[in-house]
Amino acid sequence: MPDQNPTVIRSAANQEIKALRALETKKGRSQQNAFVSEGLRHVVEAVRRGWRVNRLVLSESASPGELLREAIHGCEAGGGRVLTVTDELMTRIARRDNAQSVIAVIEQRWGKLESVVAAPGGTWLALEGIRDPGNLGSIVRSSDAFAVAGVLLIGNTVDPFSTEAVRASMGSIVNVPLIRLDETAYLDWHRSWTGRTVGTHLRASLQPESVGRGPATLLVMGNEQSGLPARIAATCTRLVRIPMRDGADSLNLAAATAIMLYAVTASAGAQR
Ligand code: SAM
Repeated sequence: MPDQNPTVIRSAANQEIKALRALETKKGRSQQNAFVSEGLRHVVEAVRRGWRVNRLVLSESASPGELLREAIHGCEAGGGRVLTVTDELMTRIARRDNAQSVIAVIEQRWGKLESVVAAPGGTWLALEGIRDPGNLGSIVRSSDAFAVAGVLLIGNTVDPFSTEAVRASMGSIVNVPLIRLDETAYLDWHRSWTGRTVGTHLRASLQPESVGRGPATLLVMGNEQSGLPARIAATCTRLVRIPMRDGADSLNLAAATAIMLYAVTASAGAQR
């Protein structure tokens, strides 16, 4: 049997690997205040954006190169540690066959409500009670593409740092500030919001084209099952419905959000 490199981790029973796998649960993520990001490109983007990488996990066959050096330097400069695991163990950790050869454990970061200000032409997005991690990740991805200033997560929402949401965001999770607040905090805060508030509702009569040019915009989207609650709908200066054929139930939340972000940011003349 050939000599094995003793610094390469081979066993899922290793304490570092156990801590990494604990991040699959919401409890583990909040205990460690961290989340998992997969893929070298996404990890380097996080480093460039100043996110703290606690652990960088490389598979033995990870190809050396400029980006990998940047990721390693970013991790170590912030006090993090670099670990190497066998390719087989990496596949087990990532729970998929085409596992990425780089995984990072990144410290969670939340935005503050005080940062939500009505800058001219700026767009903020509010999501009420979003439940589906894939939807949330896709919405974060669209928000990044449409240069949204940040996303307010109102009420009991899915964890944006879950592996599924992070994967669906395609790296955008590190580019879009996320602010969590309950409904009461939203209603209190909204009293001082000086921009317009555009809500979406299946019973609205206005179309997205009617949004027009305006000051800063807060776009509000409802929950997948029950839509926008009346108390939050009441904070909207206008309610809009994307036209659908007669009899169609509704659009998927992530699809509706992308359409609305296009309508709102195009009308505000946002720079992308
Ligand atoms: N049964 C729910 C209702 O009655 O509102 C359906 C909710 S829908 C699946 C989830 C969210 O997506 C809605 O609250 C709204 O924000 C958005 N949405 C879906 N279809 C839409 C449409 N045609 N126009 C505007 N928003 C839409």
